[in-house]
Amino acid sequence: MQNQIHSHPITIAIDKISRIFSDMGFDTVEGPELEDEWHNFDALNVAKDHSSRDMQDTFWIKDIRGKNKYNEDQGYVLRTHTSNMQIRTMEKYVSLGKMQGNKEDYIAICCPGKVFRNEATDATHEAQFHQIEMLYVAKDASLAMMIGVTQKFLSEFFGSSHELKIRLRSSYFPFVEPGNEADMQCFKCEGKGCNVCKNTGWIEIGGAGMVHPKVLESTGIDSREYRGFAFGCGIDRLVMLKYGIDDLRLLYNGDLRVVNQF
Ligand SMILES: [Zn+2]
Repeated sequence: MQNQIHSHPITIAIDKISRIFSDMGFDTVEGPELEDEWHNFDALNVAKDHSSRDMQDTFWIKDIRGKNKYNEDQGYVLRTHTSNMQIRTMEKYVSLGKMQGNKEDYIAICCPGKVFRNEATDATHEAQFHQIEMLYVAKDASLAMMIGVTQKFLSEFFGSSHELKIRLRSSYFPFVEPGNEADMQCFKCEGKGCNVCKNTGWIEIGGAGMVHPKVLESTGIDSREYRGFAFGCGIDRLVMLKYGIDDLRLLYNGDLRVVNQF
């Protein structure tokens, strides 16, 4: 039928991701795309002089200024990641009197949404794209749990008949310690080697790690009481991989011949 109504592939992916995380007990949270410096950078342990705050990497909104919780001047940006929702959610739990040492308290969320980077566009980069992050904070949070949750998420998303393993490579992100780049076992060849994984059996998929104690502390959570883990990746990249789309711009130029295939 020519005039059937179709959801955009990114919308379909976000719905699917939210369902997968919901089955594992994670709530989906969404929030502001116009964000203050505190929630986008400071609270995430991103140094004042970190390159990601540069005008060339970040869209700063002129003429809007405010004060952070320490009454310091701050600017506003189009959020550069969905991690602002990690901060906002942790702050909310603390303001509700949770995460005060009770061992039953925990936070389990997934945050999908639009993010923005001030960069040139090409086949794999857009100034606007979508991210999904998950955050778990509890007394017993561990890297092993992060690996388990991430493997379950990726296996379900790609509809793999067996669990897709992930491997971690040490890397630096200000908000996690230790920080890692995560590769997943190729969903197409299951690690044997194919064109999707460039015959390596592995695909770079995202970043992951234990939440930096300073990040927990910045929201009012005692890092001696609680630990957290987080994983994040690009939704556009997940969709491109899953459906074999090699140019990101195809997802955004509104071509119905593309959208109608979903
Ligand atoms: Zn492969």
